[in-house]
Amino acid sequence: MPQGIQQQERGTSVVDLIGNTPLLRLRRFEQLCPGVELYAKAEWQNPGGSVKDRPAASMIAAGIARGALTAEKTLLDATSGNTGIAYAMIGAASGYRVKLCMPTNATPERKTILQAYGAELVYTDPMDGSDGAILRARRLYAESPDEYFYPDQYNNDANWRAHYDGTGKEIIEQTDGRVTHFVAGLGTSGTFMGVGRRLREFAEERGRPVTLVSVQPDSPLHGLEGLKHMETAIVPGIYDEELADADLRIGTEQAYQAVRRLATDEGLLVGPSSGAALAAAVTVAQQQREGVVVTIFCDGGEKYLTQRFWDE
Ligand code: PMP
Repeated sequence: MPQGIQQQERGTSVVDLIGNTPLLRLRRFEQLCPGVELYAKAEWQNPGGSVKDRPAASMIAAGIARGALTAEKTLLDATSGNTGIAYAMIGAASGYRVKLCMPTNATPERKTILQAYGAELVYTDPMDGSDGAILRARRLYAESPDEYFYPDQYNNDANWRAHYDGTGKEIIEQTDGRVTHFVAGLGTSGTFMGVGRRLREFAEERGRPVTLVSVQPDSPLHGLEGLKHMETAIVPGIYDEELADADLRIGTEQAYQAVRRLATDEGLLVGPSSGAALAAAVTVAQQQREGVVVTIFCDGGEKYLTQRFWDE
């Protein structure tokens, strides 16, 4: 995984480590929903530390395949952090320059990681959120289209396809096809769309249902890094709200509480969007008598250690 970036004759590249993450069983939280099995995909086990390694690798491979990414070009995109880290890591490993637009209030840990990989950072006004970074990237690209490869993760089918081909397929294999509910947060929506489509197709082939539940922050101003409040954001072109059977809203405090409990009760140090995913997954699981509920833990907690919510 994934094909097409850099084929090495012998030896493993960091890009080869992307995907095939473990599916963790959350036994302590299963006590809250008797009869239901609860699992999370450990996406922070990807080499760049998040789920976004998958779409970044997929979009870069697709760009190389159609000739849009060549050695002379700089990869340019807007990212709240994890996609940028993935681009920067893969760019460093594969010899591509990387330039990223992001709000100045991205966590210091993320900025340091990006700088360590040698990426160039373009900061945007934190009041404009991730949308401000998107608009800046669009403008830079419009000014010099020949200079850049602009994958535009919000409108690139290779984003959700990475999850259709990878994450979704893995979830089917790792649950022996028993998954009944899939719960995931919406950022670009690539994870939800790709996994959701794969699971829906699989369920239809088998003639039994699967329930797809998307998760959003409950207000425009939230602390759930990586997630979008769609009503008040630029809606990603790859997002189709029709795919979800239900859409749950999770508050920032609720997610933080879940993050703290994942650390103390399961020994899992994950980021705020994983807390939101867990809170939503437990809500879904509590409405069932039996079933196999799978969610995604998008990144680890290390990048958020300077935030205050750990102490509360
Ligand atoms: N959580 C985190 C920490 C993320 O970085 C992202 C990506 N923006 C998401 C969740 C949402 O994933 P997706 O973009 O696939 O919707």
